[in-house]
Amino acid sequence: MLVSAKDMLEKAREGKYAVGQFNINNLEWTKSVLLTAEELKSPVILGVSEGAGKYMTGFKTVAAMVRAMMEELNITVPVALHLDHGTYDGCYKCIKAGFSSIMFDGSHYPIEENIEKTKELVKVAHAMGLSLEAEVGSIGGEEDGVVGLGECADPQECKAIADLGIDFLAAGIGNIHGKYPENWPGLRFDVLEQVKAAVGDMPLVLHGGTGIPEDMIKKAVSLGVAKINVNTECQLSFAAATREYIEAGKDLKGKGFDPRKLLAPGADAIRATVKEKMELFGSVGKAKE
Ligand SMILES: [Zn+2]
Repeated sequence: MLVSAKDMLEKAREGKYAVGQFNINNLEWTKSVLLTAEELKSPVILGVSEGAGKYMTGFKTVAAMVRAMMEELNITVPVALHLDHGTYDGCYKCIKAGFSSIMFDGSHYPIEENIEKTKELVKVAHAMGLSLEAEVGSIGGEEDGVVGLGECADPQECKAIADLGIDFLAAGIGNIHGKYPENWPGLRFDVLEQVKAAVGDMPLVLHGGTGIPEDMIKKAVSLGVAKINVNTECQLSFAAATREYIEAGKDLKGKGFDPRKLLAPGADAIRATVKEKMELFGSVGKAKE
């Protein structure tokens, strides 16, 4: 079922596990993530950035594809279709297109403006049955051309945003998008604890899940992180498997150039990555409960 992410994340927070958000880019990506979630009986969030939405020709195409694919594949686990790092206009487009969850990333606005816009979008999203994620403190690295500095969120600002009735909160705690540099000092658990103390039971979101060491992921989950975003890691495993296929000359043998064959190793590699993450996050089997 395509559902809001509110219930699945509240259950995750209570059960001390996290639900993975896996960003999708095309049909292969979507199919791989959905099939793995169903196989492992795990709830899942499909993340769509504005860039990926544009690439797939628009949010309406994405929503229609996901709904139809879930029906054709008999997907029974809870699935949320979520806008990742949405702009103000992007949020309205996704609400209209039939998404079940949105993230409004107002972290680059002054806090007053972030609060004002988040407040308005919470009202609209909730009236339509969607869940809403908000962000305080920009996440480092680069996503769709937006470069964040990786600042840590101010717990008081987190509280001000959380009090608007949002469903889950992304707060910067030293995490960054993309690959982590060699000299990365690690997650700021002291900041995470302060944020948690300020916002109470609100499920927290960890962006930039690629390359964070397993022990840090587990500690973050124990401290209230209920949603972890994975994007780069699926891209890397897809690219590596595709490279291996081409470099082995498999596209030159028989009908190895058939796109269904050419893209299969990459799609399988995404499934393996998603499985590994769901096991690490502890969400396997949770869709049965
Ligand atoms: Zn992010």
